[in-house]
Amino acid sequence: MTSPAPSKATAPAASDKETHKPSNFLRQIIEHDLANGTYASRKWGGSPGDAAHHAAGQPDPARVRLRFPPEPNGYLHVGHAKSICLNFGLARDYGGVCHLRFDDTNPEKEDTEYVDSIIEAVKWLGFDWAQIGNAPGKDAPYQASDYFDFMYRAAEYLIESGHAYVDEQSAEEMRINRGDFVKPGTDSPFRSRTPAENLARFREMRDGKLEDGAAVLRAKIDMASPNINLRDPAIYRIRRAHHHNTGDKWCIYPMYTFAHPVEDALEQITHSICTLEFEDQRPFYDWLLDRLCEGGLIATPHPHQYEFARLNLTYVLTSKRKLAQLVNEKRVSGWDDPRMPTIVGLRRRGYTAEAIQLFAERIGVSKSDSWIDYSTLEGALRDTLDPIAPRAMAVLDPVKLVLTNWDEVMGAGTLDDCSAPVHPHHPEQGTRHFKIGKEVWIERTDYEETPPKGFFRLFPAHTNASGQAIAASKVRLKYGHVIECVGATKDANGQVTEVQAKLIPDTKSGTPGADSVKVKGVITWVGVNDAVQAEVRLYDRLFTEAHPEANGNDFLENLNANSLSVVTAYVEPSMASIPAGQRFQFERHGYFVTDLVDHGTGKAVLNRVTGMKDSFGK
Ligand code: ATP
Ligand code: MG
Repeated sequence: MTSPAPSKATAPAASDKETHKPSNFLRQIIEHDLANGTYASRKWGGSPGDAAHHAAGQPDPARVRLRFPPEPNGYLHVGHAKSICLNFGLARDYGGVCHLRFDDTNPEKEDTEYVDSIIEAVKWLGFDWAQIGNAPGKDAPYQASDYFDFMYRAAEYLIESGHAYVDEQSAEEMRINRGDFVKPGTDSPFRSRTPAENLARFREMRDGKLEDGAAVLRAKIDMASPNINLRDPAIYRIRRAHHHNTGDKWCIYPMYTFAHPVEDALEQITHSICTLEFEDQRPFYDWLLDRLCEGGLIATPHPHQYEFARLNLTYVLTSKRKLAQLVNEKRVSGWDDPRMPTIVGLRRRGYTAEAIQLFAERIGVSKSDSWIDYSTLEGALRDTLDPIAPRAMAVLDPVKLVLTNWDEVMGAGTLDDCSAPVHPHHPEQGTRHFKIGKEVWIERTDYEETPPKGFFRLFPAHTNASGQAIAASKVRLKYGHVIECVGATKDANGQVTEVQAKLIPDTKSGTPGADSVKVKGVITWVGVNDAVQAEVRLYDRLFTEAHPEANGNDFLENLNANSLSVVTAYVEPSMASIPAGQRFQFERHGYFVTDLVDHGTGKAVLNRVTGMKDSFGK
């Protein structure tokens, strides 16, 4: 199913790729609103603001406004990536803009380290808030704490219009009087205070005359509402805490459920998209914004909230708090450990922004919670890397292979040139060059003294279990010659230290008659003379269980003890001087990336991004 393009006259130039995006309920809502001109009358005052500010502005150049509102209390993870791709993607596709907004109304938790990392993550994913179609947007992200003055004014308005009161019950009394799913709540004895009394008391709260926790401002709605969120929710609390933006100006702070709709309204958000756990908050969201519209404080029509199912990914935790625990307890090397599902971790692991965008598109959005299999993420990665990743050969578990007749056939000390395409389907990407000599590195697992059935790589002449004489195997060294296995040398522990084979003359790939000798096996290799040594980090899933917390388990119990193994490998010489962050496909082994942190300065360090195919647990 394809979604119809927005109306031709004003639609942004949409590429084929965009117009063929599968539709979903959010796209349908936006298309419906655009078709009906729901937001067509909106004006934009050039910055967030109240009704008067926007009324004095121009017709909004953004056809829709969305937002991504992280709390800067940790690094973003793959779940946030879904939300970023969704919100910024919708804004892009419908000629709108998506605001990056730091939800920093909670004074205790913020950190500029997180602010910077969030900005970088959004940019790295390929999105921008400084552009509306072709028109300029805003350079700096928005900050919810910039709206504290307005929020305070809105609170006073609610008090004056009889829609809010200062409650001085204890927290315990408030909890009991809220009732529960079966029992309606009980009115607070403070509920009948007059607006004048409430206003005076609220100003005392603001002026620091009351202790932390001594009173809260509550919306006056309905203590018997079947939706507990409407039983006079708290909207302001007293909290003496230094705020990173406003310093010590305030000792009262808005509650999230009050702050969030106000932030959306000031920013003229049209579609406020959040995860399903906020569904029960929507009636309060509308109640509050309806009251503020009545009072003429915010522009109409006010924003609307829509909910979608959050991303749950198998083998992965998507909670900043739990990821912070892994970091703080040093279970991983940091937020950017390549095993972490954080955006910095995925990036260091070798994920591309394109892969994450494709993943977000493939999983789509729905209104019911489900689990997405981790292989979907890896599949999106392979599908985006396969067409672009240069190929190279690497030997991850090296053992030396000596070509015993090299000196006679090729001449002592000779090195023979070999070449291979950089990418098999893109000849225009050119050719890579390396040399073969008397000694090459091969994979230890490519030699078997007594091979199991179906093993077509190197084995010497031997007698099998049924007493049959089996001839030595002939295999091709990829892009090189055909060789015939002779045998191997072992150490005192029976470990193979060297494999020997004979070169069969006139069989080099790409030369006339190269295929005259038929082989069943082809093995990858690198030359001892020109291979580059590299530290290769082989990553696997961080948890052994698809649902690390299923049945109330502690996720730490399900950590995969083998999620990282480090090997010393040899890679082909084309890799000698590549910068960090370059991705490759090592033939047979999968996709690798030069590590963003440790690669370089005379040391090659590579991370395995993912194998050639999904082989987890097989
Ligand atoms: P966490 O529990 O990891 O802290 P959060 O929801 O508290 O997550 P916020 O910083 O408040 O984190 O989230 C910013 C935005 O990202 C929110 O709009 C939220 O809906 C969205 N988001 C967070 N986690 C997911 C997820 N797993 N799937 C989709 N969207 C998510
Ligand atoms: Mg949160």
